Amino acid sequence: MLNKNVQAFISCEAEYEDAKIVLFGAPFDGTTSFRPGTRFGPQAIRSESFGLETYSPYQRKDLTDISAFDSGDLEFCFGNPERVLNEIEMRTVQILNDGKLPFMIGGEHLVTLGTVRAVAEKYPDLHIIHFDAHTDLRDDYLGETLSHASVIRRCHDIVGDGRIFQFGIRSGDRSEFEWIEQGHVYTQTFNFDGLAEVVKHIGDKPVYLTIDLDVLDPSIFPGTGTPEAGGVTFPQLIEAIFKVCGNVNVVACDVNELSPTYDPSGISTATACKVVRELLLAL
Ligand code: MN
Ligand code: MN
Repeated sequence: MLNKNVQAFISCEAEYEDAKIVLFGAPFDGTTSFRPGTRFGPQAIRSESFGLETYSPYQRKDLTDISAFDSGDLEFCFGNPERVLNEIEMRTVQILNDGKLPFMIGGEHLVTLGTVRAVAEKYPDLHIIHFDAHTDLRDDYLGETLSHASVIRRCHDIVGDGRIFQFGIRSGDRSEFEWIEQGHVYTQTFNFDGLAEVVKHIGDKPVYLTIDLDVLDPSIFPGTGTPEAGGVTFPQLIEAIFKVCGNVNVVACDVNELSPTYDPSGISTATACKVVRELLLAL
């Protein structure tokens, strides 16, 4: 018998009923301020994942040992970010209601707002750990409040002060840094210093982990819409992922902002695949 051609992230082939983790792609880049193209991220990660081993020597675990299901990409009508966010929220609600962990692959960073709306509804004491080069705390971007440059500010509207912890930050407007200094969010610039204390502080509270891949240095991750020099290395990023997943209760997560066509070498996509593998295994 022959099997039909259905592509999933490598080894994420559990039956939905048995899966603990459910992946889905959110191929949206409608508010990208600089270079668009993250709509091609999820499919690139899925197809290039076959260049990876399923085994991780970092964690001594294999994707064949976990039960994950890849539900494919959501289908979006571009031009209406609110409708896109609703689609993402509904998918996330369904996965949560079925007792599984939502794992979204973006897309631009705005997609995080859709999942956070759903996850915060289920977990009112939700905390957010955010890895990014950018603060994403603008109240609006050129008048638009739904923007990838405002996504974490919109998440703050939901969870409030003292619940958001950012790392790797090295870019933002002066007013964003002044707002940070007022104490609304915890922000660690340039690196992951202080992460151990933060996870200890969060304790057993539910955590949403959002990884904007442009936190990585553009020398290893040029395939993104707004590259920022001075980023972290791949080993630093996965160490930080292990520190989060090993110490707090991650209830949902996303990896976003791969824009594969800006890196014809394919290294950025390969790096994104490896981040997804390590995060899947660490959860
Ligand atoms: Mn971002
Ligand atoms: Mn960013």
